[in-house]
Formats: sequence, C-alpha cells, structure tokens
Amino acid sequence: MTSTSAAAAARGTVYGYPRPGRNRELKKAIEGYWQGRVTAGALRDTAAELRRANWRLLADAGIHEVPTGDFSLYDHVLDTSVMVGAIPARHRAAVEADALDGYFAMARGTQDVAPLEMTKWFDTNYHYLVPELGPDTAFSADTAKQVAELTEALALGLTARPVLIGPVTYLLLAKPAPGVAADFEPLALLDRLLPVYAEALADLRSAGAEWVQLDEPALVQDRTPAELNAAARAYRELGGLTDRPKLLVASYFDRLGEALPVLAKAPVEGLALDFTGAAAANLGDLAAVGGLPGKRLLAGVVNGRNVWINDFEKSLATLGTLLGLADRVDVASSCSLLHVPLDASAERDIDPQIARWLAFARQKTAEIVTLARGLAQGTDLIAAELAANRADLASRAGSVLTHDPAVRARSAAVTDQDARRSHPYPERAAAQHARLGLPLLPTTTIGSFPQTADLRTARAELRTGRIDASAYEERIKAEIRDVLAFQEKAGIDVLVHGEPERNDMVQYFAEQLTGYLATQHGWVQSYGTRYVRPPILAGDISRPEPMTVRWTTYAQSLTDRPVKGMLTGPVTMLAWSFVRDDQPLGETARQVALALRDEVNDLEAAGTSVIQVDEPALRETLPLRGADRAGYLAWATEAFRLTTSGVRPDTQVHTHMCYAEFGDILQAIDDLDADVISLEAARSHMRVADELATAGYPREVGPGVYDIHSPRVPGADEAAALLRKGLEAIPAERLWVNPDCGLKTRGWPEVRASLENLVAAAREVRDGL
Ligand code: GLN
Ligand code: ZN
Repeated sequence: MTSTSAAAAARGTVYGYPRPGRNRELKKAIEGYWQGRVTAGALRDTAAELRRANWRLLADAGIHEVPTGDFSLYDHVLDTSVMVGAIPARHRAAVEADALDGYFAMARGTQDVAPLEMTKWFDTNYHYLVPELGPDTAFSADTAKQVAELTEALALGLTARPVLIGPVTYLLLAKPAPGVAADFEPLALLDRLLPVYAEALADLRSAGAEWVQLDEPALVQDRTPAELNAAARAYRELGGLTDRPKLLVASYFDRLGEALPVLAKAPVEGLALDFTGAAAANLGDLAAVGGLPGKRLLAGVVNGRNVWINDFEKSLATLGTLLGLADRVDVASSCSLLHVPLDASAERDIDPQIARWLAFARQKTAEIVTLARGLAQGTDLIAAELAANRADLASRAGSVLTHDPAVRARSAAVTDQDARRSHPYPERAAAQHARLGLPLLPTTTIGSFPQTADLRTARAELRTGRIDASAYEERIKAEIRDVLAFQEKAGIDVLVHGEPERNDMVQYFAEQLTGYLATQHGWVQSYGTRYVRPPILAGDISRPEPMTVRWTTYAQSLTDRPVKGMLTGPVTMLAWSFVRDDQPLGETARQVALALRDEVNDLEAAGTSVIQVDEPALRETLPLRGADRAGYLAWATEAFRLTTSGVRPDTQVHTHMCYAEFGDILQAIDDLDADVISLEAARSHMRVADELATAGYPREVGPGVYDIHSPRVPGADEAAALLRKGLEAIPAERLWVNPDCGLKTRGWPEVRASLENLVAAAREVRDGL
C-alpha cells in the first residue's frame, strides 16, 4: 500500500441522510396514510421522491457513493426485522394481510395487538423498535426493500452502496420475545441468521452493488469474549462467501477497542471508523494493530451527531495519518446524518455571525467533499475553503458568546464546597419537617398537569400575535388557579403550579438562558413520525433574569400549603440539546448548573420551601463504555449538587427520574444528596424501593404508585397495595406518595380520578400505621 495512491483515490461518502424532507413531507404523508387521507401508492411515491431528492443532493454536492436502504418509513431496525423475517407471531396475520399496514402495526400496535417495544438507539435521541426473538425464531430473507432502493439509485446513474444493520448488532439489539425465558440470548441465533444475510448479499450483488455496508455499532460497546468471537465468526463466514459484494463493516459512536483487531483481521474489504471526540482513540488503536493493509477505510472525521462546523486542519491531519494505514481512505461522516437537522442555511433567525459556526446535514456533506478533495488533490486546491474554515473557527473561538468572561470566572472559582449542602441530611430533614409540618406519607405530583389543546392554542396565538403577552399571562394564571383549586380539594399535601407555561421542559429554559440557540427548522427524528427540535448550547450560559419565580410565587399566593418550585436539571438540559464540542461536557454542565443555581436561590428567596430539580436523563446519558462512566457520573452529580446546594437547610430539595432501571446508578442517586427523590415504580411493582433500601439509601423516596403512561385510572386499593409494598422497604418517615411522572400527556378526567384515588390510598395506609 502506498500512501500516494491511497490519497489519489480518496472520495467522500455518508452512511445515511435525514429522512423527512425539507418540509417534513414524509411525516405528513405517513400520518396522512394512517388517517386514511393518503393512499399507499401516494405514500410510496412521496417516499421515492424524497429518496431521489436526497441522492441527487448528495451526488450534486460531490458525494461519489450514495447510501441506499437507510431510508425508512418508520425505523431502520424494524426494516431489518422485516428483511430477516423476524415478524412476531402476534403481527404475522397483519403482515400477511397487508405488508404496509402490518409494518405499521409492528411499529405502533393496533387496537388488539401491542407494538414492538421502543428504546434509545445507543446514546442518541433516536429510538428504534426492539426485535423480539426466541429459540423458535425462523429467519427468512425478504430483500425487496433493499434491492428496490439500490435499483432506484442505480437507475439515476449513481454509484450506490447499500447500508444494512450487521447481523451481530441486530442480534445484540434484540430481546427475548414475550413468553421466552428472560435469559435467552438472541446472539445464540447467529448461525441461523447468517444464511439470511448471505442471501441478502447475493441479491444485492446481482442487483448491481459493488460494495455493501454492514453497520456494527454494537461493537463499540463493552463486549464479552464470546460476543467478540461471534463477531469474528460472522465475518469469517460472510467474508468466505463466493457470491457476494465487497463488504464494509461500519462502526460509530465510539472507539472499537477490543473489537478493532477482530474486524481488522476479518476477511472483509473495508472498515468504517469514527475519529471524532472520544472515538479519536481509534487512530492510535489502528496504528497499534498495524493498520488495514489491503483494505478500504472510511474515515469518519465529520461529526454526524453535532451541529458544528468541522476543523478542516485537524481532520486533514488525521486523514494524512490514516493514509499510511489503509489501502484506500475515503472521507465520511462519523455516523449516519440522521441525527442532525437538514440545512443550517434555512435558519434565517440565527445571527449570521453565529450561523457560520453551524453545520447541519447539508453543510456536513459539503465538508466531507471538501476534505476528500483536499486529501486527493492537495490542500492548495481547497485553499479558499481552508481559509474560510479557519476564519469561521476563529470567529467562534473569539466570540463573547462562547467566552463570556463573567461566566468563565464564576465557573473557574467553583469549589467542592460550593457543591455541598451546608448541613448533613439528618439535620436538614429535621429542619424541613419542622418547617413544612407534613403528615406521614405526604402526597405530591411530579409537576405538570394536562397540557390541554386550549393551552397550546393560547401559545400559538401568542406566537402569531393574535393575543398579547398580558392576555397570555392571564390565560396561564387562570390555569394555575384551576390546578391549585383541584389539588387543594383533592387533599394533596405538596402542590405544584402545573407547568402550563412550558412548551417543553428543556426548550422553556433554553429560550430564557443566554448562550442557548433555538432553531426554526432544526427537526431531528426522535422515532417514527415524531420529530423534535433540540435547542443548541452554543455559548457560555447565563441567566439574565429569573425564569420561573413569578409563576411559582403566583401559585403560592393562592394557598397555605407548600407549592413546589419546578426546574429541569443541568444533565437533562444537556442530554436533550445539541452540546458544544469546544469544551468538555462537564464544563457546559457546570455553567448550566450555575445558572439554575441562581434560579433555585431566587425561588427560595421568594418564599419557596420545596424545590424540585428533574433529572430524567441522568441514566440515558451514561457513556457507552463502562470505563467512561465514573468520569461522567462525577461531573453529572456535581452539576446537580451545584444547582441545589445554595439553599438553607430547611428548604427541601426534590429530584425526579423516570425509567424502569435504576440498578446501575444507585450510587449516583445517592451522590445527588437530594432530600426527596420521586421515581417511576408502578409498573415494576416498587422494585426501586427495594433496590434503594438494599443499597442503604438514607433519604426520602417517592416510588410512583400511579402509572401515567396509560389512561387507565388506578384504583385506591391498587395504589394502597403498592404503598404497602413500598413500606416493606422504606420506613413511613421517609416514604412519599406520588405518580410515576408528570401528567402533561394525560386528560383531566383520568387525572382527577387517579389523584383522588392516590390521596385516598395515602390516607388509608397512613391511618393503618
Ligand atoms: N416536572 C416534569 C413534569 O412533570 C418532569 C417530566 C419528566 O420527568 N420527563 O412534566
Ligand atoms: Zn418523569
């Protein structure tokens, strides 16, 4: 291998492109189909049109090999389940009756049949449908979608590379089907699955694919030797096939670590590696295994999951090193561009001086092409782009938005002491109990009450100018009065204002913090037809004025009972936003924490005696590799404590988290040092109460007794039974009574009935103590 020939051949590619279209045409067509307004044929036409437009855009930008098969009407993991014939028994009839309706039935369920479970795609905010497998699963190849999309792209005269989820990752993402033993390991099905992949590869080969990409992101996680052996076996077998295209095994989201030597040795023609962020460790690891002689390397140097422009000089240096390590080096995004919005140039409301720092899918595509050109033909040829890139980076680095001296000084001065409450928990608890005078088993809610259509209309009318700020304010106040009146009447002990003013628990704060940007068109797929617009942490964070105090104090003015102040915690603010790449995450978290700390202190000064700081994203932000977790949890818990530790001992700090599993963050929950934590627990029959008790958790706990994910109203007996279960683990002095999560997605009738039952249950159990 000679580095000059590797350089001359360098080209640019991506692994996938955002699906929705400029005006979210795909979402509209799919939802229209569900509502019966769009025919199946029209939906297929829209989808084909969007694929064509994306390929054209990529090709016109100079991408030499476009991805195919990455497009999806719902989810690419579900598409893979269809491709390998892993249709759960309960969906088979629907799929046989109509493939498209059956597909959507698997995704969304029907009146009678539950959908597949949905969960987060690695550490992104995209959600996939979890394959359900068991010892009886019989795979069979259905390659129609992959072949059709490849054929479409080839018909346009393009070079195309089908992208599939690899067999090892597919099995590692699966879970035992209902009724199958929980310890069944889907990876045991590998030998049964490989022939299906062999068939798919042969079909794609005969349809004209020179290369096929098999995505194996599960190999960037900690894997057992048995799992690594399975990966070795899979690629030995697929590589040994005679009737197949060239194989490219792709990894992303982190370094390959111990999986790198396994894949480097496999008889495949190419690998794709991520070289951004922590995954840059791949560079040294690659050199250590002696590179990829005879292989093609896709070098993921353009970050596919952030919104920032690339640092061309840094990327070219990486690429230059890589040239000596593979036979052919192509420039790529670090992962599919699915995780970023379409086009930064559509953001007309963002100051052009800031917009020049942003790169969405379209800008990232252009960056990849520029880097490939620079690599292939010399940097002289891209001198103009390099100069512009240098100027844009300098503008970002030198901006007062990214370097606010006051924020920097304050953050640098933070001491360990600043992130500690002034008094140990037992003293705080005594002071809080004296101040609040609550009964045993106090009742409360998690914060939000139903976000009615009426409230959303009022917000839309404010935006379009149909009503003015004071009319909107009156509308919100009326809602707060209703929410307070209901809670008093129902007999709840610690009240909330109901969060009617919040469009979203992150966006509401992002809009008020300096350093945060909102986008107008920055939609990113969360799942299926659901798209979100995450705000962008662009600069140093400060809080020009209080964000929630007037609503909380208004609510408190209406009642003698304590009203809880309600904030979103720093880790969740980061997790559900695009984050900076020019400083460690921990630093961004600290800045957000300091801004929130001011809000906490202002709430206290305004008379608030109970303040809740929600951290539902604490666990989902855990790094993919176990070795990185301690570092993350250290800054994450510090940020929470920094937010909440400025208050007096008799001010009660609550936090809230909602997911089913807490086992791996029990220590972190303790490290938050919150006085009270409310958690999701109703569906898991209060398991978390046991787990916390076993771990010796010393503070107050509110395991949810009302599952808010369903419209079902829990009976008072049912809630009482859960409470008694909780009492087996947590003593009455430290047990709270509350729902699993906020009530914003629920309707008023069920909320009223459920909370009345919850209060009745608390009274009944309290009386029996
Ligand atoms: N306080 C928020 C609410 O009640 C918490 C939401 C959440 O945990 N996701 O809506
Ligand atoms: Zn919650």
